[in-house]
Amino acid sequence: MNTREELRKLPSVDRLLQAPELAQAIAEWGHNLVADLARAVIERAREAVLGGAPCPGYEALARDVAGELERVTRPSLRPIINATGVIIHTNLGRAPLSAAARAAMAAVAQGYSNLEYDLEAGRRGSRYDHAVTLLCQLTGAEDAVVVNNNAGAVLLALAGVAAGREVIVSRGQLVEIGGGFRVPDVMRQSGARLVEVGTTNRTHLRDYEAAIGPETGALLRVHQSNFRIIGFTAEVPLSEMVALAHQHDLPVIDDLGSGTLLDTTVYGLAPEPRVQESVAAGADLVTFSGDKLLGGPQAGIIVGKARWIQVLRRHPLIRALRVDKTTLAGLQATLLHYLRGEAEQEIPVWRMIAARPEDLECRARAWTAALKAHGIAADVAPAQSAVGGGSLPGETLPTTAVVLTPRSAEALGRALREGDPPVVARVVEDRVWLDPRTVLPEEETALLSAIRIAWERIHG
Ligand SMILES: *Cc1c(COP(=O)(O)O)cnc(C)c1O
Repeated sequence: MNTREELRKLPSVDRLLQAPELAQAIAEWGHNLVADLARAVIERAREAVLGGAPCPGYEALARDVAGELERVTRPSLRPIINATGVIIHTNLGRAPLSAAARAAMAAVAQGYSNLEYDLEAGRRGSRYDHAVTLLCQLTGAEDAVVVNNNAGAVLLALAGVAAGREVIVSRGQLVEIGGGFRVPDVMRQSGARLVEVGTTNRTHLRDYEAAIGPETGALLRVHQSNFRIIGFTAEVPLSEMVALAHQHDLPVIDDLGSGTLLDTTVYGLAPEPRVQESVAAGADLVTFSGDKLLGGPQAGIIVGKARWIQVLRRHPLIRALRVDKTTLAGLQATLLHYLRGEAEQEIPVWRMIAARPEDLECRARAWTAALKAHGIAADVAPAQSAVGGGSLPGETLPTTAVVLTPRSAEALGRALREGDPPVVARVVEDRVWLDPRTVLPEEETALLSAIRIAWERIHG
């Protein structure tokens, strides 16, 4: 093949832009963007030709430009189907929201709202007033404040009560949460000085007592969200930490991480600490996430004593951590489900935790039958779902999975991720596992058709 001759066949950018299939693209997205993409496509083709490939046809090049345009203009953040069986999957956006939460968020997003406006008085109000009553009602706390996420809540709590002073924490609680949240680093950023006490496996009340001095600003407890120490261990109960701290007029901050308002043992899981229990034990500030077991939008919630919450509400850092109106609307709607006693029916995370094994099996069998009817090698198998989100490590819920045995599990896993909507499943050795627990009922039709398309793509 004559490279020179092949190179001469490459169209100019202007000529490529005259392709009929690009007219609509230019009308919609403008000449400049399409021209940039055309230039890049031609350049890539030129390099391929220089490497010995034949020159692609004019129409193929135009199709490439259209394909590039589609890739560039598609929003990078999009809905996906979570078939992993991990309920609170941080990489997959944590908690799906209830219908009421979504509606509340859409309603305040659409127009104006009384975010910082007191309708009764007809003057400026505070965004920090909105979820307070509900949070106090549900947790028994005196006051509450909501910020952007729980990492921010911990930062604000430490900065507000102990900047420039010492904070005493057990060595067994110097945890790292996924995404680089490390307790010692957050403390440094807050301006508080870390004083470690005890050992990795055992910390006693006398360890805290010995560390309290004139520089002490607070005692901190951090829930070991994503790991567990077993064997010869000792931790000080929160109520004993509180009694000791209050003797010295010091506050106790309790970072629960996930936290929960409902009792996880009802579902055969280990107990995840409940927010109400920390409040009842006398913790001055309790921090937890909005989008872990609470099942709401991303937020950091701080409940506790009015005296300390007031300090946080006036702290300059709160402006940098402030919560958005849609978040507040979604959070309020989520909290109302708890108040009405309907969390298990209405909040997706709890519906998934509470799903009955026989219903999951029934769904898995129905999917399998539908897939087999299309010649797909599918079967059901017992499996385990996880709660995830840095809560309840090692705890699982029994489920029934659909197990696919394709020519290449790797390839099918990739084809599913590249589908529309993308599906994330578990690839284990030569099989692909799909857990109905985390697939919303309204996603089922789209899931089954995505599986068929992906299957056909790799089996030809
Ligand atoms: C998850 C977690 C955090 C961080 O919460 P985000 O809502 O992700 O900011 C902090 N502390 C603990 C103990 C956690 O488990």
